[in-house]
Amino acid sequence: MSQHQIPSYLTPHGIGPWGVYLEQIDRVTPHLGALARWVETLKRPKRALIVDVPIERDDGTIAHFEGYRVQHNTSRGPGKGGVRFHQDVTLSEVMALSAWMTIKNAAVNVPYGGAKGGIRVDPKTLSQGELQRMTRRYTSEINIIIGPNKDIPAPDVNTNEKVMAWMMDTYSMNLGSTASGVVTGKPISLGGSLGRHEATGRGVFVVGCEAAAKKGISIQGARVAVQGFGNVGGIAARLFSEAGAKVVAVQDHMGTVVRESGIDVTALQAHVAQHGSVVGFTGAEAVQDRAQFWGVDCDILVPAALEQQITPDNAGQIKARIILEGANGPTTPAADDILHDKGVLVVPDVIANAGGVTVSYFEWVQDFSSFFWTEDEINQRLTRIMREAFASVWQLAEEKKVSLRTAAFIVACTRVLQAREMRGLYP
Ligand code: GLU
Repeated sequence: MSQHQIPSYLTPHGIGPWGVYLEQIDRVTPHLGALARWVETLKRPKRALIVDVPIERDDGTIAHFEGYRVQHNTSRGPGKGGVRFHQDVTLSEVMALSAWMTIKNAAVNVPYGGAKGGIRVDPKTLSQGELQRMTRRYTSEINIIIGPNKDIPAPDVNTNEKVMAWMMDTYSMNLGSTASGVVTGKPISLGGSLGRHEATGRGVFVVGCEAAAKKGISIQGARVAVQGFGNVGGIAARLFSEAGAKVVAVQDHMGTVVRESGIDVTALQAHVAQHGSVVGFTGAEAVQDRAQFWGVDCDILVPAALEQQITPDNAGQIKARIILEGANGPTTPAADDILHDKGVLVVPDVIANAGGVTVSYFEWVQDFSSFFWTEDEINQRLTRIMREAFASVWQLAEEKKVSLRTAAFIVACTRVLQAREMRGLYP
């Protein structure tokens, strides 16, 4: 457990995501040398905005939602990170997600700080009109702290290109001119980037191939289990299966399906597009007990849903040799220790899922220059950045005999705190 005093209002259940993040920082601190003097910087978000988001519902009633935008750190550049719409969003969660963005952006060396936003809402309960009004009001409320040079939102859980279009339009209307660089993950026709939609899943796949090579596992025939079948898990599953791997289990928020000989991922994607979940898919066997997913016999496990999924309660059952963290914060520090003892290679979120923000960076650069790249150029640059980030973190982990997570945090925290030190304190 972290020795930090965590205010109770931030952590109604256990140490919460922010507590997990603080513990990760404690683990890296002994490796930071003289820069450790600045480490407290990483334990305090620079700025956190809590906003009330009222909307008129279609039936004439008024609903209020709580929204957040947290800018964890801006030492290396503007804030950057997604916006999540989910019924379980809390300030603790958004703080942790913003901090993981700081670490991620520094780990892959894109010139951003870290930020994140969210609204506590189940978007499935809203009509399209209500969703648009909520998105626009939220954007107006956080308008004072976002901007192409200040803080650039992007999609995250339950947000997409359409939500980004509304955010871009709202910000631009308030400004009086079109500012396409205020968000990334936009539709292509509004200055979005080719390859952005697939980028997070593609990045997971790229580092998955690197990790498999280190472990002597051939992707051809490798058994892959995926939790979360959205923009990250669904696309990673498709790329693994196209490369010859067998996707043997998929779990989403509604159910779990397994098939030892490999699930037809394209057919499952079509089913999910039509029915909203893997439930009822006839091309695989349904498993009723959700917890059984963790014990599935597989080589590569990809948690690509929400945080704090792999805990001491299930880490012992995991048979996979590699875990690729498509989600942010899916593994708790105590579970990390169990996996480490079992010899499971955990490729941490801040590397594994950094493909999304990497192509967000490409989108932002393209918007500034109004000059757009081909999809091949984007995928090649993405692949290069992901491979290099994985290789340098791997090398450091070997040198220091630490986990890939600690190595990634050493690389990232060193970059952030060096920038912090060089900039100095103002005033
Ligand atoms: N939401 C994504 C993440 O967690 C992407 C953020 C971005 O592109 O700014 O990394």
